[in-house]
Amino acid sequence: MEVDGQAVVTLATKEDAEAVLEKVLNYYPLEAGSELEDLYLIETVKPVARTAKRDSLLSVDDAVTYLVCGTTENREYEVRSGDSLWSIARAHDMYVDDIRAANPGITENLQIGQKISLVVPVPYVNVVSKENKTVEEDIPFRTDIVRDSSLYTYERRVRVAGKPGTKRVTYNIIKENGKIVEQTIVAEQIEQEPSTQIVAVGTKQPQIVATGRYAWPISRGGQITSRFGPRSGGYHAGVDIAAPQGTPVVASDNGIVTFSGWYGGYGKCVIISHGSSSTLYGHLSQITAKEGQAVQQGQTIGLVGSTGRSTGPHLHFEVREGGSPKNPLLYFEQR
Ligand SMILES: [Zn+2]
Repeated sequence: MEVDGQAVVTLATKEDAEAVLEKVLNYYPLEAGSELEDLYLIETVKPVARTAKRDSLLSVDDAVTYLVCGTTENREYEVRSGDSLWSIARAHDMYVDDIRAANPGITENLQIGQKISLVVPVPYVNVVSKENKTVEEDIPFRTDIVRDSSLYTYERRVRVAGKPGTKRVTYNIIKENGKIVEQTIVAEQIEQEPSTQIVAVGTKQPQIVATGRYAWPISRGGQITSRFGPRSGGYHAGVDIAAPQGTPVVASDNGIVTFSGWYGGYGKCVIISHGSSSTLYGHLSQITAKEGQAVQQGQTIGLVGSTGRSTGPHLHFEVREGGSPKNPLLYFEQR
């Protein structure tokens, strides 16, 4: 068989050569449920009658493999516990992209015992397929916000639940050697319009007046393990108070929770605004206060933990006046 005028594989009969061509064209699987529009080889491949040596003949399957992979060599690796595409590539002096090229459609989700080809294909022939595929897709719903003066500013209520719509979308998919190179939408038909979600957001301001005094931020006990100020080349913007994991952490003064969630090295963290000042509580194991919630002095907002950059269960506590950190211990001593 000649590929672009060059003899590449030799088969015993013309029928074998035709079978090879058919198998090469259908080598790569099509999309499930798609309709084939076109299927061809980039190269010109044709059978040519020749006299050949018997030992140069290939079986139909070997000829297919040779044309598609550039070799009939078969090197496989069996996946073991703890393997990843990266570790397999590294162990065989390959790139992850090589492993992907050798195993079309492979994902990071490897199964123990799975066979992985280590042969990177250098194909003699390239298969192009054009397929049309129609799928059902969701249309996300819109969310409209209405203001509600009976709710506090930190409250949100779903008044009318939204529902996604559905549409039928037809894609034209062009693949080269089983890999998608182009995908365009050729038709789209809405079957069900989505219905809008309506969410009420409160406008009522909570009545919170800070006392101006800071209470000890742990419900019971706690030992200061690191003070405010310069520390190992940096600056410690608060105090560290060691306490057993799970000890309740309480609001140091009345206020509104302005942050509640993961905050970089602080781990699980709560910030409470007291008007012109704010307090911060870091490394919590659990947060029980929600953003926007009004909290009273002494009210539990979370539990002592060791999340974020921390070496053991403790509370990192900061006081900020007008945005800049102050030494919390000065405030405690005033009480
Ligand atoms: Zn700290």
